[in-house]
Amino acid sequence: VTRPRRRGQESAGLAAARALDAEDPLRSLRARFALPADVIYLDGESLGAMPAATPGRVSAVTTHEWGEDLIRSWNTHDWIAAPSRLGAKIARLIGARPDEVVVADSTSVNLYKLIRAVMAVRGRKGVVVAEAGDFPTDAYVAAGALSQAAGWRLDLRPRAEIAEAIRPGVDLLVLSHVHYKTAARHDLVAVTRKAHEAGAIALWDLSHSAGAIALDLDGANADLAVGCGYKYLNGGPGAPAFLFVAERWREKLSSPINGWMGHAAPFAFAQDYAPADGAMRFLCGTPPILSMAALEVGVDQFDGVEVNAAEQKSQRLADYLIFDVEARCAGLGLQLITPRRPAERGCHVSFTHPDAWPVMQALIERGVIGDMRAPDVLRFGLPALYVSFEDLWRAVGVLGDVLRTGAWNAPRFHARRRVT
Ligand SMILES: *Cc1c(COP(=O)(O)O)cnc(C)c1O
Repeated sequence: VTRPRRRGQESAGLAAARALDAEDPLRSLRARFALPADVIYLDGESLGAMPAATPGRVSAVTTHEWGEDLIRSWNTHDWIAAPSRLGAKIARLIGARPDEVVVADSTSVNLYKLIRAVMAVRGRKGVVVAEAGDFPTDAYVAAGALSQAAGWRLDLRPRAEIAEAIRPGVDLLVLSHVHYKTAARHDLVAVTRKAHEAGAIALWDLSHSAGAIALDLDGANADLAVGCGYKYLNGGPGAPAFLFVAERWREKLSSPINGWMGHAAPFAFAQDYAPADGAMRFLCGTPPILSMAALEVGVDQFDGVEVNAAEQKSQRLADYLIFDVEARCAGLGLQLITPRRPAERGCHVSFTHPDAWPVMQALIERGVIGDMRAPDVLRFGLPALYVSFEDLWRAVGVLGDVLRTGAWNAPRFHARRRVT
């Protein structure tokens, strides 16, 4: 007897979600992406979806530019300018000047280069503050870089102690703007100001912010930043990363890896190294053109889109997801770990569940793709460009069903894979 009533409620929920989609000014952007029809993709904060234009563009670069034009393409197709051209496009998304951003290497490598560059200007000893429990590569890279100079020390602090750790004597602060698990967001403006008051330089990891949150790095007087190309920027697996060096630092910092692409005149083949201006000196070797081509298509999906509008949509999606999970999955063991206030979070939402791994595997088998972060986090990314309210309504229905029926407990969902 309860079934018809429940079905009625469910179709009302679907209709409400569709009404929200109908009012969404960004709804047409989803057509720019090639998502499988039977998948609800809530993992764009881990690997962004593929733009529909990417295969054609990569194919044109291989077939035509590489295959036919060969080495001439460095000039005729301006391959050589890809790091700065893409940097300029990303600069618009993060509130930087076009020449303050370049695309190169991975986020991890860019972190290393910038940390070593700061160490070189600060001298023989110093202190770097980073957040314990932040994305591991940041602390790994910082510790590794510091271990190469005897006088340098890493002060790894839990999130609650970061503010008090920023005090005179600290040289560098390395911090993710948005936390990879909880989505908790640091106040970039306030923390940068506090770092400066203490005489420290701030290096922001924008991996979960670029393309997701409206940033004004120059307005915040930011010093340095790095970020990822394959998350909200949709550049494809292992896409090159970016780095930002504020103009006032451009002549003061230099890369620890003096590769020829960071030289002021690479094709002069001079004997001595002379760094290029600004962020360009942080280039190292030859840019990976095929990967750059895919990243450029990813970044171009933001053409005509203000990040501010994308952020607002993602925040509405997050509010909706939190509300819907708490309404339809109440009592099923999920615990929200993402801040409830939009200004305090990024664009993903996470819940803990004691059996997060098999639960996520069961969701994925039913076409709802999010990811699991050890030991117990279910994480759902909400990129504004292609996630809809209807997606979330359907995903929460599947989540509730998987939990309520215990379907997640089938043995096949318990086998661990290398990548989670
Ligand atoms: C995803 C991510 C990275 C990725 O680093 P790679 O060098 O591209 O593997 C780095 N930092 C944070 C905070 C991330 O979320």
